[in-house]
Amino acid sequence: RIQRRNIQCRRDIDSFAPKFLAIFESLVPAEEEIAKQRQLINSLNNLISREWPHARLHLYGSCANSFGVSNSDIDVCLSINERELGKAEIILKLAEILEAGNLQNVQALTRARVPIVKMMDPQTGLSCDICINNLLAVVNTKLLKDYAMIDPRLRQLAFIVKHWAKSRHVNETYQGTLSSYAYVIMCIHFLQNRRPAILPCLQAMEATYVVTVDNIDCSYFDDVNKLHMFGARNREPISRLLWAFFHYWAYQHDYTADVISIRTGTLISKHSKDWTRRIGNDRHLICIEDPFETSHDLGRVVDKFSIKILREEFERAANILQYDPNPTVTLFEPY
Ligand code: ATP
Ligand code: MG
Repeated sequence: RIQRRNIQCRRDIDSFAPKFLAIFESLVPAEEEIAKQRQLINSLNNLISREWPHARLHLYGSCANSFGVSNSDIDVCLSINERELGKAEIILKLAEILEAGNLQNVQALTRARVPIVKMMDPQTGLSCDICINNLLAVVNTKLLKDYAMIDPRLRQLAFIVKHWAKSRHVNETYQGTLSSYAYVIMCIHFLQNRRPAILPCLQAMEATYVVTVDNIDCSYFDDVNKLHMFGARNREPISRLLWAFFHYWAYQHDYTADVISIRTGTLISKHSKDWTRRIGNDRHLICIEDPFETSHDLGRVVDKFSIKILREEFERAANILQYDPNPTVTLFEPY
């Protein structure tokens, strides 16, 4: 079922921009919260370096990629070169160190798909998850953050889309809907493909940041201060972009044939990636290529039931933005 409906946008769409911007502002965490996160990382680094002088903690995920709303949990990655210890042993040892350091609710989840230690810091009240040597996540966090510095409309769009997804319960990977990370990638891809473009494709430009992680080349152009005028020729305000984003996913995206790829800045074909068939549990019903692990479809969590829910929610959002008298309220009404 390919639908390619090109609907004219409602005439008063720009009048909703101030209200959407106010919603965005209300979601951005305060400076104090960011300071608290830094304080926690510093004290954890001190604690850990006593036992492992060469180990380092990195923040990743929404508290470091600039797409975090207030009161999100913090994602931390321990980078450590311990040849003698396996991941599970490092996790157990780390849990011991944290307990001795008076952190609370310390739990070592050694058998999870991604083994982590969970804990709560009584001084700041912050909860955090610590994983081991997940350096790809640290690098994709930097990529998202660099994109966010190019044009302010990316953060505006992604915060509102994440807020919508949480309100409508379509941000739950364990129930077959998409991760926050996947939604941000969808927003980047969308802005790369506006005409005039609002974002460039950093991985297609000459690399100024050059790293290889797990044999994957993660190089890209990261001198984003030079790009702050990139999107200036496009004057579309957030309300119009939101309208077009949801219209794209409701009525224009070809789910049977296309993969979105921020690595190339364009659509690529499912065929070229051999993502046309179900293999094991990977169904490829909505295809979102990871920018670095290119064999990884961020949509692989989606199944034949959740794809329906997801597409109905995209249509609902598109229709609200097109017809509803109060889209800034109705869009986020709880499911
Ligand atoms: P939230 O505000 O909802 O916590 P988040 O930005 O922390 O949002 P998550 O989806 O929790 O997003 O992901 C945290 C980080 O883990 C991402 O920034 C990314 O680096 C990494 N990550 C998450 N899902 C994947 C995935 N499927 N493949 C690769 N990396 C991922
Ligand atoms: Mg997170």
